[in-house]
Amino acid sequence: MTARLIDGKAAALSLREQVRVAAGTFAQAAGRRPGLATVLVGEDPASAVYVRSKIKATGEAGLESFHHKLDDATSEEDLLSLVADLNADERVDGILVQLPLPTQIDAAKVIDAISPDKDVDGFHALNAGRLATGLDALVPCTPLGCLKLLRAELGDLSGKNAVVIGRSNIVGKPMAMLLIGESATVTVAHSRTADLPGVVRQADIVVAAVGRPEMVKADWIKPGATVIDVGINRVLTDDGKGRLVGDVAFSEVSQVAGAITPVPGGVGPMTIACLLRNTLVAAHRRAGLTVPQ
Ligand code: NDP
Repeated sequence: MTARLIDGKAAALSLREQVRVAAGTFAQAAGRRPGLATVLVGEDPASAVYVRSKIKATGEAGLESFHHKLDDATSEEDLLSLVADLNADERVDGILVQLPLPTQIDAAKVIDAISPDKDVDGFHALNAGRLATGLDALVPCTPLGCLKLLRAELGDLSGKNAVVIGRSNIVGKPMAMLLIGESATVTVAHSRTADLPGVVRQADIVVAAVGRPEMVKADWIKPGATVIDVGINRVLTDDGKGRLVGDVAFSEVSQVAGAITPVPGGVGPMTIACLLRNTLVAAHRRAGLTVPQ
């Protein structure tokens, strides 16, 4: 391997420690700790694991945690009523409704019902619009984490050619907006992109957020490029245990790239750290306090 390994675990630990210290200062000024409400509907095992690790990280950072576990048959009306209660609860600075939701619930309606000031996932249309227009926004955690890793690795991103593969509202689009905000030259590729390898070959920065195991190959990568792998894909192994791989063929791409994130241990840990950071930001804004750097 010739590429530098971008250690998302270490970066996330350091961000979590920063949040912990700032949360202590906030508590002294505001007389309460920043609070994050998590809502899990149903029994999806992956969602349960995600929510559990978010709650654990919340406690470790000294934030107040309010967890609501609802059963699979919960109606849309009941979930919307819980969201309304959390919007009105002064102790709650951030509301996270874990997706996906059971089919009887319209996720878009639920996201729309969350107060934009408490929308720590950054999925509300108001926050998406604020990000797109360069205003202060709560920014989706995964692309925010990618940006922090890129800044730490490369410093100034202005003038870099960035290719984002994927155009979801959760990762691809906000990632593109953040990179435009950094004055990178941004191309957003997706399933209809013609000559994807040729497009990616132009990139100084590649962010892969596709959901296809090891799709991005070594001969797509400009030598020395920085590669951020958002993908989390479980693939079967011969021993039947399975393992996690990204959207990038790590072993070959790491021979060509200048720097690369591993999966696991790259973007994933930063996503949770950025959720804590967003809760801290929301708490400061709601309390009328200056957001710490
Ligand atoms: P979506 O399925 O919402 O979006 C996938 C995007 O990839 C779409 O824009 C799609 O294009 C594009 N795409 C699909 N196939 C191809 C292809 N063959 N060539 C080019 N583009 C393609 O996924 P998400 O954005 O939610 O997530 C992407 C990945 O990131 C997943 O593996 C997910 O598990 C992971 N993830 C990881 C997180 C973390 O914390 N590390 C957090 C969130 C997601 P089109 O729009 O044309 O269909």
